[in-house]
Amino acid sequence: MISINFAPAALVLTVFCLLYSMTAKRKQYSLSSESVTNKLLNQHIVFLMLLISVIFSAVSSVVGTFLQQIASEKTVFLQYLFHAIYYFFHDALSILFSLYIMNVNGASVGRSRRFYVLFALPFIISEIFVLTNGFTGFLFYIDNEFVYHRGPLIPALYILGLIYLISAFVFFFRYKKATPMVESNAIATLMLLSAAGVIVQGLWSDLVVELFAESLCLLGMLMMLEERSGYTDPVTGTLNRVALIDASRRLIETNQRCSIVLVKLTNMDLFSKLFNGREMDSLLMQVSSWLTWISSEERLYYYRSESFAILMPGDVVKEANAVAEKILKRFSKDWKSDEAYLRLEVDVSVVGIPNDISTMDDLMELLASGYKKKAAGSRLVSFDEMSENRNNRRIEQALRDAVDSCKLRVWYQPIWSVEEQRTVAAEALLRIDSDALRNISPEVYIPIAEQCGIIREIGLFVFEEVCRLLKNKRVKAIGLSYIELNISVYQFMYDDVVKRFEEIRNRYGIPVELLNLEVTETASTSETPAVEQSIKELRRLGYTFSLDDFGTGYSNLKQLISNSYKNVKIDKSILWEAEHSEATSCLLDGLIRVIRSLDYNVVQEGVETPAQLERTSKSGGNLIQGYYFSRPQPEDGFIDYLETEAAKTVAV
Ligand code: C2E
Ligand code: MG
Ligand code: MG
Repeated sequence: MISINFAPAALVLTVFCLLYSMTAKRKQYSLSSESVTNKLLNQHIVFLMLLISVIFSAVSSVVGTFLQQIASEKTVFLQYLFHAIYYFFHDALSILFSLYIMNVNGASVGRSRRFYVLFALPFIISEIFVLTNGFTGFLFYIDNEFVYHRGPLIPALYILGLIYLISAFVFFFRYKKATPMVESNAIATLMLLSAAGVIVQGLWSDLVVELFAESLCLLGMLMMLEERSGYTDPVTGTLNRVALIDASRRLIETNQRCSIVLVKLTNMDLFSKLFNGREMDSLLMQVSSWLTWISSEERLYYYRSESFAILMPGDVVKEANAVAEKILKRFSKDWKSDEAYLRLEVDVSVVGIPNDISTMDDLMELLASGYKKKAAGSRLVSFDEMSENRNNRRIEQALRDAVDSCKLRVWYQPIWSVEEQRTVAAEALLRIDSDALRNISPEVYIPIAEQCGIIREIGLFVFEEVCRLLKNKRVKAIGLSYIELNISVYQFMYDDVVKRFEEIRNRYGIPVELLNLEVTETASTSETPAVEQSIKELRRLGYTFSLDDFGTGYSNLKQLISNSYKNVKIDKSILWEAEHSEATSCLLDGLIRVIRSLDYNVVQEGVETPAQLERTSKSGGNLIQGYYFSRPQPEDGFIDYLETEAAKTVAV
């Protein structure tokens, strides 16, 4: 069995791998709290066991060769012993290799104890043969001349080794989708290399290359699969985002259940103003060490700045919630920095796979989405709240797509005059002709458009569409007094807004009186100089304004006086509440009176019923907007509506 040529080379290679792994990856082997099963499910531990097995095989091979040369009656026992050691450890290589592949691609997760017992059974039987070989001689024997001979069962041992390697191939191909490309290629190459070693040695017993092939294979594993400098975060030393994505991909693609506890430090920026970078890093390290302690190094990931994830394989929702509770409890106490005691705050949430998230895309989106802290203190954040950001990102993307593919539309809703008993104006309202946004209200996507800056394009588009409508001969013939456009405060942040409005208006030749800009209180009272400046400039150019949604928010009465408006639009919620509440009804009457006395028009939004119309007219509201007259409509429908109404008025 022995070749003096290759075993020492194999020994040198594996000892190098072992020393390297033990120093560089020491942390990953120190999972003292883990059970034996968990250890076997740990890629690094199995790798370590592989190294040790090759080392013992190589040492016993070298010693065996030496003993062969000085063989005498005295050495027979030692010869037996070292051959037995060789077979004992060598036999373990193929099953460990198979287990290693299963750990790398996630095939090992979630399997039953029965599976592992059956999986290990042939190996255990073969080891029994090794241990009893002294009595049976089935595997090897030493003759009277002290020469070593292979026994009749040696081919069975090699066939067993091949079977485990084939099982590794099967697991590799079945779970290939769950393995990143680079790892897949590495595994395929290494499997071929080790299979070649087993076959060559099985067929030609004199050519002892197997151990060497295996040690080369281990070196390959160390370099390509174990050495994951790209997998660790330099500050905390924990696994990073790439590692988290790879690990979760394995679980998701192999339909395994798991839970992820996400831990976001929410008030670090507060301390970063007080402490230097080194202190902040040390604080982060403390948190990271503590989280490592309560999870395990293998399962903790630092996946984005100030955000950790604990990945827990299996049906462990309960356990994951318990971990979340434990974290919250710890964060209700102080952390010690060099200088002071600090109360760090976290938002903790538990995400279940596949219950909350079932695809890799969803997970990537969740991990990538920014997260806004909603309340002070540490707290448990529901998955729904977490995914709100995810939805917002989706909406943002859909908005961008809609802008790029010209899916923006403007619809119009008539504004009816109580005095003239006809439609005198209309409000332009944005609509988006895209499947992704079909069921989403502008009330939801406009704030998102404001946050991400798309409001600028939207605003200019609506402005141009309104100018185009006003140029339409049929609209001109009806003689609308003006069209109202909603303007967001964020549009004023761009200093060319006034210039762009004027450029469009002049291009279409629209008199400024035909346009009326609706602003909400936030915009009109904003102290931002850019906003104030733009509004001033627009007023100077002759633009008029409506105060939208009056009665909601802060409803600062003083600013009704300090700014001049053409219209004040009373929010529909007040009208609707006034129907049920005497107090609100009185308030509404009072508001209308005040606004009218200031010489502004009152536009009542949300008028849906004849009773609401009557109530508003009686209390002095002079302009009406609501479903009672018409819902917002596309341009053609709106013009038809106006023409029909005009025809009716003439007939009367
Ligand atoms: P808003 O400016 O207060 O517009 C009035 C909203 O009330 C419109 O909702 C309109 O369809 C709805 N409405 C009018 N009458 C009734 C009624 O009788 N019953 C009910 N239930 N609703 C009525 P919409 O079109 O969904 O727009 C919601 C908000 O989105 C708008 O509120 C406005 O703040 C914003 N928005 C819409 N288009 C634009 C736009 O082009 N630019 C900006 N910046 N914001 C826009
Ligand atoms: Mg409006
Ligand atoms: Mg409104």
